[in-house]
Amino acid sequence: MTVEAEQRLLAEQVALLHRQGPSGYIGSFVSAVVLVWVLWDEPLERTNLLIWMFSVCAAIGLRWFEFEAYRADPQRLQRGAWWGWWFTVVAATSGVVWGYLGWAFFQPTLLFLLPMTLGLAGQVGLSVTSIGIFLPAHVAFNVLALTPFVLRNYLEEGRLFFGQSIAVLVFMLACLFFARRQQAMIRDAIRLRLDNQDLLDQVTRENERVVQTRREAEEANEAKTRFLAAASHDLRQPLQAMTLFVHAIEEGMRRREGLDAALVGKLRSSCDSLEMLLDSLLDLSRADAGDLKPEICDFALQPILDRLRREFTDQAADKGLLLRVVPSRAYARSDPALIERMLRNLTANALRYTERGAVLVASRSRGRRLHLEVRDSGIGIPEQARVEIFREFYQLDNPERDRRKGLGLGLAIVDALARQLGHRVDLRSAPGRGSVFSIEVPVGRASTAASSDLPPSSGRLEGAWIVVIDDEAPIREALASVLERWGCRVAGGENADEVLGVLGAAGMPMPAAILADWRLREGRNGDVEAGELCRRLGRPVPVLLITGDTDPETTREAGFPVIHKPIQGFRLRARLDALLANQESQSTSA
Ligand code: ADP
Repeated sequence: MTVEAEQRLLAEQVALLHRQGPSGYIGSFVSAVVLVWVLWDEPLERTNLLIWMFSVCAAIGLRWFEFEAYRADPQRLQRGAWWGWWFTVVAATSGVVWGYLGWAFFQPTLLFLLPMTLGLAGQVGLSVTSIGIFLPAHVAFNVLALTPFVLRNYLEEGRLFFGQSIAVLVFMLACLFFARRQQAMIRDAIRLRLDNQDLLDQVTRENERVVQTRREAEEANEAKTRFLAAASHDLRQPLQAMTLFVHAIEEGMRRREGLDAALVGKLRSSCDSLEMLLDSLLDLSRADAGDLKPEICDFALQPILDRLRREFTDQAADKGLLLRVVPSRAYARSDPALIERMLRNLTANALRYTERGAVLVASRSRGRRLHLEVRDSGIGIPEQARVEIFREFYQLDNPERDRRKGLGLGLAIVDALARQLGHRVDLRSAPGRGSVFSIEVPVGRASTAASSDLPPSSGRLEGAWIVVIDDEAPIREALASVLERWGCRVAGGENADEVLGVLGAAGMPMPAAILADWRLREGRNGDVEAGELCRRLGRPVPVLLITGDTDPETTREAGFPVIHKPIQGFRLRARLDALLANQESQSTSA
């Protein structure tokens, strides 16, 4: 048994010992009164008898005091052994008082011996059941109460007294034996109860854990259902609008009314919102899956603040708001692109939810930490919504899910990015007065800082041959027209063979990059076709895979850099430019 288990067992044993309580004192008191009464007419000093009676009362008082002190101790279950030994001392005191009776008032007459033996044996016999629960207490009382009487009998002349001493000794040992057995039985019973209690506790804990896990699973399930419902609703809206606009444009063209510029403009804006939503969903899924691979470095904040100011100044002015971006010389240590994304979302929200006053973007340094703050004087956020607004598609005051009022993804992205970067996002807000969102990042070192400005476009794309592998002819054509507008020359085809045909017809120029759709028809893959093309060209060419698959796990498997559909022109241009720049620097260093 462990020390801890023994302590618990002892504590329960001592608690049971004290549960006997006052019944023991009454028994003691009544026996003492009867004995005094019986011995009153004996040739003894009555004063001594009264003093003894007083000692019995004092011993009872001590027991009572110990009992009350034990009950008042809030730590009694932790101090079982301590109270057990205290009880033993009190029992020993009682033992001494009763032992004194058998020694000092001994009379070698039968009239005396009978009540004396009955009184003492009765006390010790009763103590087997009352204090035998804790053997040391019984031993102390038993030995101290009976030994003097046994000795007095033994020292007296005559067989009767010798027999009496032996009989009381045997009684004494029998009581010790039974008290020991009783203690063992009680300890077994307590142990069983404690084991059962432990088992019950364990089952209860296990049950609570199962209930908790089930609740979490149900909540996750509900969250997913809510997410899917909101996402599919928000995706269907612009698609529905686009279908109607296309239909209206077709109708107009059929009637030879020409292209309606206003309708095309509306179609464009539906495309934009669809693109925006898909982009946000993609960002969220990648941030949630931890797939954004933060590139942590020391960087200056100012270029990011400059870009935010340029991007949002007009929007703020349109709403009659003052946008103040406080210049900063600070350096931060984090991923600059992700921090910029978070600040952009917070600034866009600040402007969206402020009707009057100003929006302030500033950084404050506190020791080794920087607080990047976006402060507004807008509608504020009620206390009870401050956790939920970070959930996907959670919006206050937009039950009709009007996309013009935002998508409900901005803060979910901020939260997912913050978790991935290990930064804290704080929110303070006073409804009706405004909000402050603040991202806490470590301070960076100026000496190792990288520039967070994008490298200026170098005109690398001018005249470069770009291969486009896609099995959808309209997409190939659309990509080719975009690339040609940037000055590229394009060789497109469904597979490596077709591309080689086009390149051959153009005098076999060496392509600068391959843009390949990842999933082609009939289970073929763009990366395999691109690999095959490089093999047949006899040289590696940088590859950029295009995919609509947003699963971060699949993207990780790609083996080539990946760009997600729908492709935004500026993003494709930046990625191609970077690919070519990388190729240039490799060939220079080689
Ligand atoms: P949304 O696209 O609706 O802005 P977000 O995830 O960015 O989605 O924000 C969720 C909700 O949090 C918003 O609908 C809005 O109710 C509330 N919110 C976010 N930022 C602010 C702010 N600066 N002031 C007041 N409310 C805000």
